[in-house]
Amino acid sequence: MNSLYDLAEQIRRCTKCPLWKGRTLAVPGDGAEKAKIMVIGEAPGAEEDRQGLPFVGRAGKLLNEMLEIAGWKRSDIFITNCLKCRPPKNRAPQKEELKNCREWLEQQIELIKPELVVVLGRVASSQLLGKDKIKDIHGKIMIKEGLKYFVTYHPSAGLRFKKFKEKLKEDFLVLGKLNYR
Ligand code: URA
Repeated sequence: MNSLYDLAEQIRRCTKCPLWKGRTLAVPGDGAEKAKIMVIGEAPGAEEDRQGLPFVGRAGKLLNEMLEIAGWKRSDIFITNCLKCRPPKNRAPQKEELKNCREWLEQQIELIKPELVVVLGRVASSQLLGKDKIKDIHGKIMIKEGLKYFVTYHPSAGLRFKKFKEKLKEDFLVLGKLNYR
């Protein structure tokens, strides 16, 4: 079986969909191999594409604040996205791209075997749980095929609208109380 490191190398060389042509760096994910918590967003943005790391731009700053609220250290968890390459001009991921990239995410979940998957925003929620109404499902544990999920808003939504930032804070307070670390 692949190690997480080998998998990241394969992701960096991936040409399964045309997004590879526009990337500076693929963004496989970052964090602890033995993480109990995985955090899954949508797709890399400009800064992530430059650095090859997830959530290192403005949305990443807000995510870091939320992790602090939960009492989590970024180095203890594993952070990744549904898409490993940046869509042009940060447009929404397309169905075919998500389908192609899904295998990587599934292999990461399989290797890490997280106790909890934190799902950020509508795209990741549709992809992982088949649900896209965040307001109806956020802030609580959901179980699918033996895996525990917790859906919350995407930090980018929190940057745009104060009310979503407040919801994010509330959800990460709940997460902190669940005692996954
Ligand atoms: N938004 C995401 O969904 N992922 C990132 O890595 C950065 C911004």
